[in-house]
Amino acid sequence: MIRPEQLLCPRPEGLYCPPGDFFIDPTRPVDRAVITHGHADHARAGHGRVLATQATLDIMAVRYGADFAGAVQAMAYGEVANVGGVEISLVPAGHILGSAQAVARWKGMTIVVSGDYKRRRDPTCAAFEPVPCDVFVSEATFGLPVFRHPPDADEIGKLTASLAQFPERTHLVGAYSLGKAQRIIRLLREAGWDRPIYVHGAMERLDALYEAHGVDLGPTAPASAAGLGDLAGEIVIAPPSAIADRWSRRFADPVTAFASGWMRVRARARQGGVELPLILSDHADWDELTATVAELSPGELWITHGREEALARWAELNGVPARPLSLVGYEDEDT
Ligand SMILES: [Zn+2]
Ligand SMILES: [Zn+2]
Repeated sequence: MIRPEQLLCPRPEGLYCPPGDFFIDPTRPVDRAVITHGHADHARAGHGRVLATQATLDIMAVRYGADFAGAVQAMAYGEVANVGGVEISLVPAGHILGSAQAVARWKGMTIVVSGDYKRRRDPTCAAFEPVPCDVFVSEATFGLPVFRHPPDADEIGKLTASLAQFPERTHLVGAYSLGKAQRIIRLLREAGWDRPIYVHGAMERLDALYEAHGVDLGPTAPASAAGLGDLAGEIVIAPPSAIADRWSRRFADPVTAFASGWMRVRARARQGGVELPLILSDHADWDELTATVAELSPGELWITHGREEALARWAELNGVPARPLSLVGYEDEDT
């Protein structure tokens, strides 16, 4: 049996596979990259060749332009490619549209790099699929027991209750423009909100891309086109940065909401002037992280970034040797 480091090892650019000569989610331009999903800390422009799901390639083209890489190869979930004798496949990660775990197999060794993931249902993407492996590579963004995300329906319920209570106020929801924004729109539709939802210009092309991939967002309209005062009692979704700047002053007496796993920390909501914190995250919470490690029971757990120590200690106590990698360059998209 080979050692895991022969198949995958941390380098300054990211996780490197020597026999296949490729990186997974490299943070610097490389010759050959496997990309787990479209968030900017994982998917960067300028690689020679990129292997990813079609949705991830489409997201990269929207964000960086069609020439974001020298060459691209789209892989469907479950399809297997051979790169330098290493078998690569992509399996749903449940994080955002197109997100995948990268599964590398070589000489009887299987390593799964989950990228970012969550376990709860998300109506905008395929659900996480557990893959038995020798090494599971996990994030730990919310790797502390204090981080427990409540049911999504409860958080969406807070928003609709506020709309019923303050029908004269615009409800301005800060949400990351890739993944979170579209998920909130879908969850609102499931909760019965059938009015047009107004979106910031930064989201329009990504919304269209989700629609093109079969995610029905219902009626949406550009927030900028609406006249002042028109949006009383309506929902506007915008990136967190737009909520904080002049852009948001056009709305009369808005209720400011922010959808993020960090909203569990009350001080953070207060500091940001958030009136209506919504605890909605695209990352696994503590229970999802530990349940995943328990379910997979891998030979080793490698932790890429986040609150690595607590998850590593939990894994060791539960019989799974753990190794914090402390990779630089990855961060939660909400921070
Ligand atoms: Zn991500
Ligand atoms: Zn990330």
